[in-house]
Order: sequence, then structure tokens, then C-alpha cells
Amino acid sequence: MIRVENLTKRYGSHYALNDISFEIGEGEIVGLLGPNGAGKSTTMNILTGYLSATAGNAYIGGVNVLDNPTEAKKKIGYLPEQPPLYPEMTVKEYLHFVYELKGCTLPREPHLAEIAEVVKIKDVENRLIAHLSKGYKQRVGIAAALVNAPPVLIFDEPTVGLDPQQIIEVRNLLRSLGKKHTIILSTHILPEVQAVCERIIVIHHGQIIANEKTEDITRAAETFDRFRVKICGPSSRDIRNALLSLPEVRQAEALPGRDADSFAFALECKRGTDVRKPLFRLCVEKDFTLIGVEPLGTDLEDIFVRLIENAAQKEAVGKKKRQR
Ligand code: ADP
Ligand code: MG
Repeated sequence: MIRVENLTKRYGSHYALNDISFEIGEGEIVGLLGPNGAGKSTTMNILTGYLSATAGNAYIGGVNVLDNPTEAKKKIGYLPEQPPLYPEMTVKEYLHFVYELKGCTLPREPHLAEIAEVVKIKDVENRLIAHLSKGYKQRVGIAAALVNAPPVLIFDEPTVGLDPQQIIEVRNLLRSLGKKHTIILSTHILPEVQAVCERIIVIHHGQIIANEKTEDITRAAETFDRFRVKICGPSSRDIRNALLSLPEVRQAEALPGRDADSFAFALECKRGTDVRKPLFRLCVEKDFTLIGVEPLGTDLEDIFVRLIENAAQKEAVGKKKRQR
């Protein structure tokens, strides 16, 4: 349904996108995950026909977006990073305006009523957009994307700036839209794609560094358990050496935040080995005092670091093979 082939976007000598390719099948819901500046919006703006590419091609339902943007746009509902809402219009007026703009021919009243129902904005239909909360504004933006019933939905950072309750609502909405649409959404938040997407494409510095099922990517990231420990002892070095002597511990990194006589460390431990008991015994043996152990999550940064390390390793192995 969506095909991107060797897409490159260059600004001067800066590559916003550097030769990316991927495909998204009909009915899939895929997350484009990457930190700020990775190239997510650039990808989406090219896919939706709003930005030209330096090289490569993009197809929506077989239509080449770069050659035929008008035809491609008919197949797409787009929620840009900053939805172009008109604050002086009511929600209803705005949706009628979008209906006209898109040249929609579906029966107007029932079509717009159905959309208002799906995105749950019926109760604010007659309110001025200027007076809506950010959560409602976002839903109006999503409603506009749904006008003309496009099969493909492209959402750029759909939950940015929303409060936790609104985030949950928008995610639920995305999941339910996923039943009838092909969706690509961008985010810099890992839990977002974990919550909503079946597949994750990780983009970094304009390149794709992973394209895998969500469960595979998060499993790869969770090969290790991480803990934050706080220990009283003679010195940071003595404690760190003792920690590293435990077979369960792979890494012990000193953290800032030491008190008068305690030191904090981030421990990386082999998955499935509960380090807490050996840790406690170690402290008794060494005459340290263990004053805290808490699990640390795996954050996006860790996942990136590992993905980039893996990508670099694979690249190096590939090069060696080619040299032979
Ligand atoms: P993301 O959406 O992932 O945060 P973008 O696609 O907006 O990232 O940007 C990718 C890169 O391209 C960034 O390094 C950004 O600074 C650069 N970039 C984006 N738009 C322009 C532009 N109009 N001129 C120059 N550089 C740009
Ligand atoms: Mg962006």
C-alpha cells in the first residue's frame, strides 16, 4: 500500500533522508520512531506530496506520489505535525470546509456525522476551534484527515503536547482506525509505538536502522535487566569493583547523586538472573550497607545505542565478507 524506494532528501550538503526504503502492506499499522531531527516529518511530507525528494520514489496504492501528487493525495488522510486548523471556525464549519476542499462526493451529512462519531467530537461540533482543548483540536485534525474516507492515514506525532488522559484517548482512536486503514504514524516515544503499532521502523540521522515487528524490537532491547542501586561503603571504586565481581553483573556505571556516604550505580545484569540476593550477600560480606535497589526501565536512548551498535557491527561484518 505504501512503498518507498531509495528516498533521499538533501538540504545543501545536509542529508535529511539518506537512501531509505520500506514497504507497508494494506491494513498494517506502522510506527516511524526516531529522535527529533531523525527525518520523520521529512519522510511524511514527501509521502503526502507536500515536499519534493532529491532522489528516489514513493508510491501510495501504486500511484507515484512525486509524479502524480494530486492522485496520490486522494488516497491519503494526513495529520501534519502542526494541523492547519482555522481557529475562527466552528468544528462543524471546519469539517464542511475540508469536505469542499477535498472535493468529497460522499453523502455529506451522514459522512461527516459518522466521522464526528468515530473521533468523538459530536459534543463540541458548534464550538469555535479556538476554544477547544489541545486534545479536542487534535481529534478535529484527525477528523479532517478522515474526510473522503482515504484508505491510508499518515499521522505526524499525533500525541505531542497532549496530557496523559488525552494521549490514552488518541491512542485508542488510532488502534480502532487501524482496523479499517493502513496507518503510518511518527513518534519519538517508544511506549507509543509499543502501544499502537504492529511494526516499528527506526530512523536515525536520515537512515533506517531497524524495521521489525514491535515485539522483536522491544525484546532485543530487553536482553538485560537494569537496576539502580545505592550502597554505603568506603569508596565508589571499592564498591564498583565488588559489584563487577558478581557473575550476574555485566556493567556497573557510577551515577551522580551520592549522599554523604552512599554511592549510586546503574547495574546491567544478565536477563533472568535475579541480582538482588547475591547483591545483598555481597554487601554483608564486604561490610557495605545496601540502602536501595530499584529497577530501571529500558529507555529509547538505550535501544538506539544498541541498535546503532548492532547496525555498525553488521556493516563491519558485511564489509569483511565483501573483501574476501
Ligand atoms: P523529525 O521530524 O524526525 O524531527 P525532520 O524530518 O523534521 O525530523 O528533519 C530532518 C532533518 O532535516 C533535520 O536535521 C532538520 O534540521 C533538517 N531539515 C528539515 N527541514 C529543513 C529545511 N527546510 N531546511 C534545512 N534543513 C531542514
Ligand atoms: Mg517532525
